[in-house]
This record gives sequence, C-alpha cells and structure tokens, in this order.
Amino acid sequence: MNCPFCGNHDYKVIDSRDVNDGIRRRRQCLSCSSRFTTYERLQPASLFVIKKDQRREEFNKDKLLTGIRKACEKRPLPTGSIDRLVDNIEAELYHQGKAEIPSAVIGDMVMERLKSLDYIAYIRFASVYRDFTDITALKREIDTLVSDKTEMPSPTSQLPLLPAEELETVTKGRQRSRR
Ligand SMILES: [Zn+2]
Repeated sequence: MNCPFCGNHDYKVIDSRDVNDGIRRRRQCLSCSSRFTTYERLQPASLFVIKKDQRREEFNKDKLLTGIRKACEKRPLPTGSIDRLVDNIEAELYHQGKAEIPSAVIGDMVMERLKSLDYIAYIRFASVYRDFTDITALKREIDTLVSDKTEMPSPTSQLPLLPAEELETVTKGRQRSRR
C-alpha cells in the first residue's frame, strides 16, 4: 500500500480502533506527513456457483437480488422483505461452508422462500427459472399452489390467488372450522 498523496510506502499507524465489522486505522505518511484511513475487514470465503452447463461463476448477491426484484416487481411486499430474503439465502449458503453450490440449489431456496412470501412473484420466478416450455407446465404449477393453499397457513400479506368467489368459500370454511 502506498501513500495516496505522494506514493511513498512508509507510514506509521497513529490510531487503531474496532468498528462494526473490522478495524479502522489512521495512518500518517512518513514522507509527506499526510494522514489517511484504512479499513481491514474479514473477507468471507469465496463461493462458486455451478451453472447448468457446469461452468463456475463466483456467487453474486446483486445478481440474485436483481432476479428476485424483477419477479417481485409491482407486488405490494413489505419494505425490505426482498433484501431480507436475499440476506437469508446468502447467510445460509455461507453457513453451509461449501466452496461450490449448484445453481439449482440456490434456485430452489429462492422458490421455497418466494412461495411463502408472494404467490405471484413465485410463479413469475418459477416461469423463468424452471423454464416452463408450455402453458400446461405452468398450469400444473399453479394447480399445485392452489391445492397447497388450503393446507398451508397463508400469510396475511398474500393477495388472493383464487377468484373472489372461491376465496370466500375457503375463508368461510375456515371460519366455520374455527368455531
Ligand atoms: Zn505521503
């Protein structure tokens, strides 16, 4: 590391303190006496994604975020829920401690979480990720969702997926069973 002002590489540390996720050091150049700051942070082990064609690509959180944001576009989701979802996936990936993860595993993790967040976003993501080739495959996925819905406790943030009439029956049925 060279002094950003004169390029000299001799300096002394005049202050050093712990900050949230690293160490901050104030340094002073021994040649021109300019002061500058450096930060030291722990670098997480790199994680590679094995793509469908077996190529490796470094895990890119922003890319994942972009894909999910696209699927969630114009959906009335609570602020920060997409970021939380991606943070959660990233944490789980690093927690697994593997150097390489197949892209399909990450895709499934996204699908699982989107399913409990928003059905429309889930279907949108699935249609890209699962590469539905025809409307039948897409319909099958939606049918599965609809039949799951009666068993799954649906989050209050979910907008109706069923037509209003059917939904009413489902809701009434639920209220009746609660009594
Ligand atoms: Zn200098």
